[in-house]
Amino acid sequence: MATATQAIAIDENISQFVAKPRPMLINGKWVSAASGKTFPTYNPATGEVLAQVAEGDKEDIDRAVAAARAAFDKGPWRDMTPSQRGRLMWKLADLLEKHAEKFAQLESLDQGKPITLARIADIPTSIDQLRYYAGWATKVEGNTIPISAHGGKFLAYTLREPVGVVGQIIPWNFPMIMATLKLGPALATGCTVVLKPAEQTPLTALMLGELIQEVGFPDGVVNIVPGYGETAGAALAAHPKVDKIAFTGSTEVGKLIVRAATGNLKKVSLELGGKSPNIVLQDAEIDSAIPGAANAIFFNQGQVCCAGSRLYIQDKEFDKVVDGVSQLASKIRIGPGLEPTSQMGPLVSEEQLQRVCGYLESGYSEGAKATVGGSREGDKGYFVKPTVLVNTNEKMKVVREEIFGPVVTAMPFKDLDELIAKANDTEYGLAAAVWTRDIKKAHRIAGELRAGTVWINCYGVLDSAMPFGGYKQSGWGREMGHEMLNLYTEVKSVCTPIS
Ligand code: ADP
Repeated sequence: MATATQAIAIDENISQFVAKPRPMLINGKWVSAASGKTFPTYNPATGEVLAQVAEGDKEDIDRAVAAARAAFDKGPWRDMTPSQRGRLMWKLADLLEKHAEKFAQLESLDQGKPITLARIADIPTSIDQLRYYAGWATKVEGNTIPISAHGGKFLAYTLREPVGVVGQIIPWNFPMIMATLKLGPALATGCTVVLKPAEQTPLTALMLGELIQEVGFPDGVVNIVPGYGETAGAALAAHPKVDKIAFTGSTEVGKLIVRAATGNLKKVSLELGGKSPNIVLQDAEIDSAIPGAANAIFFNQGQVCCAGSRLYIQDKEFDKVVDGVSQLASKIRIGPGLEPTSQMGPLVSEEQLQRVCGYLESGYSEGAKATVGGSREGDKGYFVKPTVLVNTNEKMKVVREEIFGPVVTAMPFKDLDELIAKANDTEYGLAAAVWTRDIKKAHRIAGELRAGTVWINCYGVLDSAMPFGGYKQSGWGREMGHEMLNLYTEVKSVCTPIS
């Protein structure tokens, strides 16, 4: 492990922020949990407690939903013009930009990711999402509808109205990006929010809450309740006064959310797991496909829902691509997130470490072989070596299930029809990629893959403006882009005779 370099000096404000128990944000006030309980969040590079956080449960969710309900049902949020809402959001983005380094450091400390990635990816993306949706606040429009019924002398139009109080439950892999991506469309459309960050990584959402207060959003518009999924999360998903739940996380928990939502039939949107095929044809620019394939799985320690975790390589180029990806993997500098030379940090938690190592064992027991990596790195913190598995096939657990770690299974294929059937032989359908110089084949394959995003000759390119979401068990609905506004609005038809 690269331990020779120095960790960066932590901003004094961060040291103070983690030194005392962090309260939750309810109705514009920072408060303790009703139970008085706190829970620890850990530094994944060391396994040591990083901070204590107020442990929200059902009672706190009740308080937060009541605040969000009141803020939605009556003034001043309701009375604000779209332009005023957009300006508050833009101001929040500016403040986040001003404090970007602090947020990058805290994200790296709490989540484990390399500070360099938090600086160039997580925080700038969060700022961009807030700005993108700030722009939409003034552009959420209905239509005028030509009416033929009853002789047709009617004026009919649609309004797009905010869906109401929204519960947002987010995961730990990109804590800030998930928070801002969820808040953006909710605030742009005039909803109010109860946000529950993941228990592994609650800190940056709470620090964002401080900026939300500074900007001056009315009380109760954004409430942030940290806590465990089975208690706080479940209470939010089941709450009868919540109009919509937006969830990002595992497919397993997604199904629990759907069941919990049936009580009041709240709207549900889900961004769930994936087992995305990354396909290299023999006519591809192999020198681009190799780093593309490595980055597709090793970025963020492989803790990415759209990671390219099934690498299909046309047999003529199989050895070359596997060797190339393995060589790149062997050169990745593993180390604590706060060391600027680290290219790969630890996994987020002990649980995740056990899960990924469990998958490696399962792979070996079914005959898989690691060409590189293949085990935990060191014995302190939650590091796993970047790993390429060969001798794998579609029946194995490591090929069928989402590992959510830096582990790719590489498999050869001969012809395109066989490949497409294999690529689609999964319960997931979040993303896919194809590497080829043949433009016809590229678009034919893009059309045949059952996935919400298909990259051609690139991987993992996401943008605030480009819809993202899953076919099959990868989710319901599309986030990002103007598609996402549909998840946060109800359509009302208004119709009146005009003669
Ligand atoms: P992972 O398994 O990768 O940790 P999860 O899907 O469990 O991901 O977690 C994503 C989010 O869902 C977290 O905020 C977590 O607290 C929350 N969560 C977990 N279980 C439940 C549940 N039963 N109901 C509602 N939210 C939950």
